[in-house]
Amino acid sequence: MVQSFNPIVRTLMGPGPSDVNPRVLQAMAKPTIGHLDPEFIRLMDEIKSLLQLTFKTGNELTIPVSAPGSAGMETCFVNLVEPGDKVIVCENGVFGGRMAENVTRLGGQVVQVEQDWGRAVDPDQLEVALKSHPDAKFVAFVHAETSTGALSDANTLCRLAIEHNCLTIVDCVTSLAGCEVDIDGWGVDATYSGTQKCLSCAPGLSPISLSPKAVDVIKNRKTPVNSWFLDLNLVMGYWGQGQKRAYHHTAPVNSLYGLHEALVILHEEGLEASWRRHEVNHLALRSGLEALGLEFIVPEGERLHQLNTVTIPAGVDEAVVRSQLLQRFNLEIGAGLGSLAGKVWRIGLMGYASNPKNVLFCVNALEAVLAENSAKINLGVATRAVQVAYQLSQNG
Ligand SMILES: *Cc1c(COP(=O)(O)O)cnc(C)c1O
Repeated sequence: MVQSFNPIVRTLMGPGPSDVNPRVLQAMAKPTIGHLDPEFIRLMDEIKSLLQLTFKTGNELTIPVSAPGSAGMETCFVNLVEPGDKVIVCENGVFGGRMAENVTRLGGQVVQVEQDWGRAVDPDQLEVALKSHPDAKFVAFVHAETSTGALSDANTLCRLAIEHNCLTIVDCVTSLAGCEVDIDGWGVDATYSGTQKCLSCAPGLSPISLSPKAVDVIKNRKTPVNSWFLDLNLVMGYWGQGQKRAYHHTAPVNSLYGLHEALVILHEEGLEASWRRHEVNHLALRSGLEALGLEFIVPEGERLHQLNTVTIPAGVDEAVVRSQLLQRFNLEIGAGLGSLAGKVWRIGLMGYASNPKNVLFCVNALEAVLAENSAKINLGVATRAVQVAYQLSQNG
């Protein structure tokens, strides 16, 4: 007989999905109602307002796309970029590479600003590209590069793009709710995020926000948007404010209950408080990992608080360690991606999972498994280092 699926309860400390708040799971288990039900329309309006607060934007076109973060990325590119458009893409990891791939597939022209993996995007290099390509129409970059753990200076990069009359497309999948995101303050024209990173919601939705300038670009396209499902002209018939909602696709009703609850939880805590919590737990995890002898690959000042990328001790099989953590401790941490595969671990402290209990648990579980694998690490000092870091944060 086929039986019900009962997943093991894990602690998710990889690059996403992160642990989902039990309140979100409960919200998702509530009865399904119609996607054009007036009660559901009311929920949609609330989700839009909560997303505007979260992105710090007044953009009317702020909605969740009914698909994961990659679909949010594709929504921004497919609606904005037309064949022949020149797009400066800053690439410092896997997700910047996907942006370039989107542009190429749309017939756009990519101008690559390449950066070493593990580093933030260099504003000087962007400026050079902007000066040598005055006909560029867009600048695209990833705010929080989850493949490496690097945080770029979105404010400075956007300011440069604006000075050179470019619209900005910014990936905020991992940054939203985990560190400062200020869409209007920075002048971002198109952004997308995901539900399963620092929003601690189930995977499968992608909040996006487009500025009035970006909407103008979409309305004045010479060619139709090359996707029916993601065409925002059509999607807005369903999500548009004050409009008579018309059927476009069946919204993922229960997933949207979950997103609503995740946003309620976030704003109960407060945006700034959430950013600060991610910072405090990052500092404690960092102390613990460094006490063990692991090294961060991203220089200080460019590090994400929600994703910690560290080197693997010599002679250790990184996949064996991850599998032992999973089997024995039900703890998931992430492997390296792309050119960092096999070379690093990526330890997430995202959303609900960013808490002192997880920091201590992860540091201790890693210590135990590494010791068993005869890794050359410092034993017996990591827990104390974590405690001291928390004391410092409390006093500071
Ligand atoms: C996770 C992630 C994505 C893709 O999101 P999916 O939900 O996996 O499709 C895009 N960009 C960044 C920076 C991410 O971390």
